[in-house]
Amino acid sequence: MPTREAQAALEHASSVPLWCDDSRRPQPRAAYRGDHDVDLAVVGGGFTGLWAALLALEEDPGREVVVLEGARLGWAATGRNGGFCSSSLTHGVGNGLARWPAEMALLQRLGAANLDAIEATVRERGIDCDFERTGELDVALEPWQLEDLRGLHRTLRDLGQEAELLSAAQTRALVASPTYLGGLLDRHGVAMVNPARLAWGLADAIEDAGGRIHEATRVLRLRSAGERVALITAAGTVRARQVVLATNVFPSPLRRARAYVVPVWDHLIATEPLSRSQREALGWEGRSGVGDSGNQFHYYRLTSDNRLVFGGYDALYYYGSDLSTRRARRPETEQMLYRHMVKTFPGLQGVRITHTWGGAIDTSTRFSASWQRAFGGKVASVLGYTGLGVGASRFGAQVCLDLLAGRDNERTRLEMVRRRPMPWPPEPVRWLGIQVTRRSIARADANGGRRGLWLRTLDRLGLGFDS
Ligand SMILES: Cc1cc2nc3c(=O)[nH]c(=O)nc-3n(C[C@H](O)[C@H](O)[C@H](O)COP(=O)(O)OP(=O)(O)OC[C@H]3O[C@@H](n4cnc5c(N)ncnc54)[C@H](O)[C@@H]3O)c2cc1C
Repeated sequence: MPTREAQAALEHASSVPLWCDDSRRPQPRAAYRGDHDVDLAVVGGGFTGLWAALLALEEDPGREVVVLEGARLGWAATGRNGGFCSSSLTHGVGNGLARWPAEMALLQRLGAANLDAIEATVRERGIDCDFERTGELDVALEPWQLEDLRGLHRTLRDLGQEAELLSAAQTRALVASPTYLGGLLDRHGVAMVNPARLAWGLADAIEDAGGRIHEATRVLRLRSAGERVALITAAGTVRARQVVLATNVFPSPLRRARAYVVPVWDHLIATEPLSRSQREALGWEGRSGVGDSGNQFHYYRLTSDNRLVFGGYDALYYYGSDLSTRRARRPETEQMLYRHMVKTFPGLQGVRITHTWGGAIDTSTRFSASWQRAFGGKVASVLGYTGLGVGASRFGAQVCLDLLAGRDNERTRLEMVRRRPMPWPPEPVRWLGIQVTRRSIARADANGGRRGLWLRTLDRLGLGFDS
């Protein structure tokens, strides 16, 4: 398809993430000023920070809790993602099994309970975030991907989990794309959500429970202050008994946490609401999220007003862990997403793209979260969900509270929690290694999924690069 057509479709697209372009976006909360003592300070107002504050207040309603957000609530990954809220804590069962085989059944159980608890919070607190427990359909676009889906099906069955292996016809009957050769349907393990509305609803719940939230309040550094930790901001200091650091891909106030994540930019496009005939042509009655099964993969879903949100494939790392907001737009990638979307659903040719945006994913060498404690156990940090943190962030926050309380339980005993991943090397090795890996991944996809020497070596070392 000529680039001209993709350019025309994208011509008037807004750079504001679809989820944040919402008249229900709350006014910013006031910035923090002054010097106050609190029981718990949470740094970062994305999912991790918001869940940490809410869970802390649910555990102990008398606790004084404050959230300090450097910019706006949910403006970063939390308001930019695809809204796939998965039960997986390990960036998929394959990754988890390769790293923690003995713990995998427990990790899956904890992950399922975590997703159930998110759903319960949404229902009990009446959070209007289009939460739909529709599941996820993984589709094969190449014969080698069918083999991978069969393997995944066996693995899930061995772990006692239900998933349905589907033929091409069965898959196309669910979602009508001529590109599908087969699929694997997980009906229970994933929900679709409007992530910004979930974040705003969690913020309201925190305030209803007596917590305080300040936006435009960056924590510049941490200092020991006797029995407390001082969080220094531009307009005052918070002295907290305990601190949760939920700063994700941004430079952590805890310097030694920084080497555990690199920002990998991922992009999405959203269509205008589909017409009745466009919508009917897609089938898609079950409204599950869809992911394809290449190493470079797309993920896509319908919104409550029947737009198609389509993202993924390019996973871009810029030298020096560049986080500047100019990276959130990339015309080549946006046009490529449009072309891939039309290839997947030819009936959508000519549909207008209303929003396009990118976001930085906190990528860890083990593709899943890791935790750290500092300041004699008064500070806990979690980061590194690697593109699957919408659901796992609640678990990440819960473990931070466990660690701060010194709890010995099935969460804190997990090897995943006790052991840290390999840190990323410094530049220029970091950039070089990631570029070689990206190229090798593209080559593997073009060669029937066959992983070359470089990828096989990384696999053996338990290292990798993903989004
Ligand atoms: C494009 C994209 C698509 C994705 N798709 C999915 C998906 O479909 N499903 C899924 O499960 N996951 C997905 N993810 C990942 C998921 O969005 C994240 O894992 C999750 O939102 C992480 O939440 P968080 O609170 O840890 O981080 P963030 O949302 O990044 O929040 C961190 C916050 O900390 C603040 N902060 C940083 N430093 C300071 C400081 N010093 N002082 C005060 N505040 C500070 C930042 O301003 C920011 O608001 C995607 C991510 C991206 C970028």
